[in-house]
Amino acid sequence: MKRKNTVLPIMFLLIMATVIPVFAQPSAEEIVADAESIDYSIAPEGFRVTIVGSGSPRLDLTRAGQSIYVEYKDTKILVDCGQWSTRNILQFGINIEKIENMFFTHQHADHNSDFWAFAIGAWGTPTGRQKLYMAGPSVQKLYDTTVNFFKEDLEYRTEIVGLHPEGLLSNVTLNDFTKDVETFQVDGVKVTAIPVPHTITTYAFKFEAGGHSVVISGDMKYIDTFAPFSKGADLLIMDGALTGAFSDLPPEAAASIKAGLSQSHIFNEDIARIVSDAQPSTTVITHILADTDYEGSKALYQKAGYAGKVVEAYDGIVFTLK
Ligand SMILES: [Zn+2]
Ligand SMILES: [Zn+2]
Repeated sequence: MKRKNTVLPIMFLLIMATVIPVFAQPSAEEIVADAESIDYSIAPEGFRVTIVGSGSPRLDLTRAGQSIYVEYKDTKILVDCGQWSTRNILQFGINIEKIENMFFTHQHADHNSDFWAFAIGAWGTPTGRQKLYMAGPSVQKLYDTTVNFFKEDLEYRTEIVGLHPEGLLSNVTLNDFTKDVETFQVDGVKVTAIPVPHTITTYAFKFEAGGHSVVISGDMKYIDTFAPFSKGADLLIMDGALTGAFSDLPPEAAASIKAGLSQSHIFNEDIARIVSDAQPSTTVITHILADTDYEGSKALYQKAGYAGKVVEAYDGIVFTLK
């Protein structure tokens, strides 16, 4: 009778038990909270990411247009500012006058229609913003259009009312994206942006600092550069326009709107491919147009081999990475 050698397998398990933790990817301690429970006057120790607006071009009282507030320690960056995002920022208790970095994934109205409120409202008081850094595609055109359109009003405010010109008319830096890879630093945060396919020039952003990373897809169709770009991110905030079931529409209308949207947004099956390849710790589905089939999406991603968490965005959900 053959005796099984049990010593070797036990030794193997013991060795693996000590080796595996060394190779396991360190995942960030992530705390999910509501914006109302956060004291924004206290800077976070690492990244704190607030979904300011989780909606789409469809006007919806419960979801502002696309907008994401990224903080890393004292650095404050607003990425996109779709309709009603400035109202949400105030409602959450964020001091909008302290935001000096305004980045855009692209210039569609659901991502920039509150820009005038941000640009002028958060500047035009004695305590208002005194410095502005804008980055993204077509920011030069957006800036020029704004200051030209409001020229007389801005002259009145600075020359008659006596407001400082800094932060809107001077002390402004514009970084207009044109390259295949845009890389720069904002204080201690490394920013990388790559083009993604949409109906107009659009960039996805990656923010890296303190060993952690946050990726924002912007609006996008599938592209094979995106999974490597978001590989191992702690937080991937993903265009989920096509995750909706559109069950409020008649089936033919739902099919037709989905077909139309697929010309500019990513299919859920392709999100599954990306997340199973990139394995971000958490995937946040945003840009919500309709009733999101959240459970269906989660099951789809898991079936494709995704091991991370899937979270449906709402206005005011906050992710703190430590
Ligand atoms: Zn768009
Ligand atoms: Zn959009």
